[in-house]
Amino acid sequence: EMITTDVIIIGAGASGITAAKTLADQGVTDFVMLEATDRVGGRVRNADFAGGKVELGANWVEGVNGPGPVNPVWTLAQEVNLRSFYSFFDNGTSNIYDERGFVPIEEAASTVEAADKAFEFVGELSKNLTEGNIEDISQQTGQRFFGFYPKTAIEMALDWWYYDFTTAEPPRASSLKNTVPLPTEEIFGPDHYFVADPRGYAVVFQPLLKSYLKMDGETVVDSRLKLGKVVNKIEYTDTGVVVSTADGSVYKAKAAIVTASIGVLQSNLINFSPGLPFWKMSVIYQFDMAVYTKIFLSFPSKFWPTHPGSEFMLYADESRGYYTIWQSLDKQFPDKSLIFVTVTDEQSKRVNQQSFNDTLGEVMVVLRKMFGENIPMADEIYYYDWQSDPYAKGSYSNWPIGVSTFEFKQLQAPVGRVYFCGEHTSELYSGYLHGALLEGERTGNEVIQCLKKGKCQGDFAAGMK
Ligand code: FAD
Repeated sequence: EMITTDVIIIGAGASGITAAKTLADQGVTDFVMLEATDRVGGRVRNADFAGGKVELGANWVEGVNGPGPVNPVWTLAQEVNLRSFYSFFDNGTSNIYDERGFVPIEEAASTVEAADKAFEFVGELSKNLTEGNIEDISQQTGQRFFGFYPKTAIEMALDWWYYDFTTAEPPRASSLKNTVPLPTEEIFGPDHYFVADPRGYAVVFQPLLKSYLKMDGETVVDSRLKLGKVVNKIEYTDTGVVVSTADGSVYKAKAAIVTASIGVLQSNLINFSPGLPFWKMSVIYQFDMAVYTKIFLSFPSKFWPTHPGSEFMLYADESRGYYTIWQSLDKQFPDKSLIFVTVTDEQSKRVNQQSFNDTLGEVMVVLRKMFGENIPMADEIYYYDWQSDPYAKGSYSNWPIGVSTFEFKQLQAPVGRVYFCGEHTSELYSGYLHGALLEGERTGNEVIQCLKKGKCQGDFAAGMK
């Protein structure tokens, strides 16, 4: 079977959904979307847990309530009346625990103040580097300019809270100029809303899908969306593409838009023919796919504080990043007793290799240190291994130190008639859902330029070796 169409969109996550919509809005309606899994939404995905639904991937609408432009995810959230809750992050540093239990606020105050000041300083330093057109440094290098060398358990927990909790990698690894201050907050606003909607966060895609695909209620019934199609080969030239899937289907088109994550691109799931040029592979390998894991726990009763401002709790361990950030879900699930803890990077990789039971044993030890020996045992534990998911290969990208803006343009650049987009190609919002949405739109427009005006951006690639 060989199907001929104008454009093939690989992946029906946020980027693929907006890329196809952008094409359809401008009259290019002859396209197919090839999605490996049996659903749309990609890394926006929920699961049943303790009689409710929890989000395994994207969870917050990030960057809300600014004076300027509105985050496109927030606009969609309003449209579908998404159930979401303001996250009061400011109080996190007032709720510090260590192996002896709650750390009195006075006891931690000077450490918290120093870490706050260091964080502010690093933000200012980053702005100065950008304004002065000075080369990038790592977040960690920025901290050293202030003299912040996290050493104690509390200092490491604060360091993790300020940096790893966002980028999912340590300050040593992350670009300073591209991460602090966070463009998402600077441009869209300082606030973050935590989504807990029984329909799932992915309901925000409904207005987009409905605008260009045939639907039966909430379900897409349009033959242009093809589920269960794992793309494993892309043959391309400067005039077209031939895309093959694992089940033996072949599609021919004028252009392809690949929205697979940077982790998937690193994994060789898709075989490009000819092989992608060195400049392209080099930046694909240089960029980081981080791993971020939420470990959900359900208890027979609450033993954590439930007063306003106690939602976030920091646990300071002598091992950095060991079950550091705890978040209760009392507002979201008032008649349940749910809490979750976030781990990233090496700690994520570690828990992904052990059984739920082993992880439960570890978190119970931590919770007993925080809240005392008499707390009940959890009834349920669940977390999702994004790193082993062949169609995600991690949670989201992080801009590492050492990738210049020019190299980033190479990450965005098409090769022949193959276009690339996803959260990882968003210069300002990489890692975020809004970044993915906006990139689908940008790339859809590029493809329109190519099809309608013959401007296919081949020049960029032509100058590369
Ligand atoms: P994806 O959603 O990955 O879409 C790509 C699609 O391509 C997928 O559906 C995949 O199945 C498919 N695919 C891959 N390979 C193939 C192939 N070979 N053939 C066919 N199809 C293929 N963002 C926020 O804004 N706020 C948050 O709070 C937040 N938290 C997060 C927490 C976690 C744990 C994770 C994992 C992500 C989080 N994100 C968050 C990031 C957000 O989820 C992503 O940025 C966004 O969903 C990415 O969209 P995308 O279209 O770029 O990629």
